Amino acid sequence: MTLIDGKATARAVRAELKTETERFERETGKKVGLAVVLVGNDPASQIYVKNKIKGCEETGIRSFAHYLPEDTTQEELLALIEGLVADENVHGILVQLPLPRHLDEGEVLKAIPPEKDVDGFHAENIGLLALGENGTVACTPLGVMELLKRYRVELSGKHAVVVGRSRIVGRPMALLLLNADATVTVCHSRTSDLKEQCLRADVLVAAVGKPRLITEDMVKKGAVVIDVGMNRTSQGLCGDVDFENVAKKAAYITPVPGGVGPMTIAMLLKNTVACARRKCK
Ligand code: NAP
Repeated sequence: MTLIDGKATARAVRAELKTETERFERETGKKVGLAVVLVGNDPASQIYVKNKIKGCEETGIRSFAHYLPEDTTQEELLALIEGLVADENVHGILVQLPLPRHLDEGEVLKAIPPEKDVDGFHAENIGLLALGENGTVACTPLGVMELLKRYRVELSGKHAVVVGRSRIVGRPMALLLLNADATVTVCHSRTSDLKEQCLRADVLVAAVGKPRLITEDMVKKGAVVIDVGMNRTSQGLCGDVDFENVAKKAAYITPVPGGVGPMTIAMLLKNTVACARRKCK
């Protein structure tokens, strides 16, 4: 069994990006720039934002952090985004989700144009992905693809099963695997025979949010198992896969923590550099 090391892979990606941002600066005289917007005081969001800014520092990306109070109005937030859209020094805009409940998330995300949408949430970017064309892709599923690529996991002709169909993970994950010529099955909460579907997987991606939902009896021997889940339990952080037992059957497996998680921020930085490159081509 090979343990897929997301931490080491993310470190390697960040080192490559540092070289890339330095080259960008030499060629254009500009720094790659990412604006990060956080509304309110959600502790988990504060940690995510801090880590994203740290990632920027490590890779030579200039970050523009905007911390807004909990009672920020929709108009104030949209005005800030409008300014960031017009700002030549900002190549990517990230609004940390979830937003406080009184704000309209859909409208806010629509205000970020596809060329600065480093999260890959804009309908145009999702449309390009669905068409099998190049746009910006959501960071977590993109991170999974990067892990599979770097561990040389063959996807063409393989059966991939994705458990979960959310907009930010399951759906784009399934499209990426399809674009890589896998035969893809998507499972969700209404799937009536989850175990049977999972047993068919050469590559199994769990993105559900249910601790240890995927057990040993649901996994084919020699499968590649990717665990996107991040669940806080009384015993600490755990994934959607029963790691200890599934690891005995899998050919490759990601741990939680230290698997997919570190790749998400690395891909955000990669998307930012790609947006800057496209802008300054
Ligand atoms: P989500 O929006 O809650 O979606 C969960 C999906 O799982 C839904 O499609 C749901 O089906 C499906 N589901 C729920 N119960 C199921 C069951 N018993 N059997 C089969 N499918 C079931 O969650 P998400 O945002 O995609 O996140 C999923 C997990 O990944 C969470 O643990 C989250 O914390 C983690 N995550 C990690 C990262 C990272 O960087 N590592 C990033 C994002 C998310 P329906 O559509 O039918 O409701």
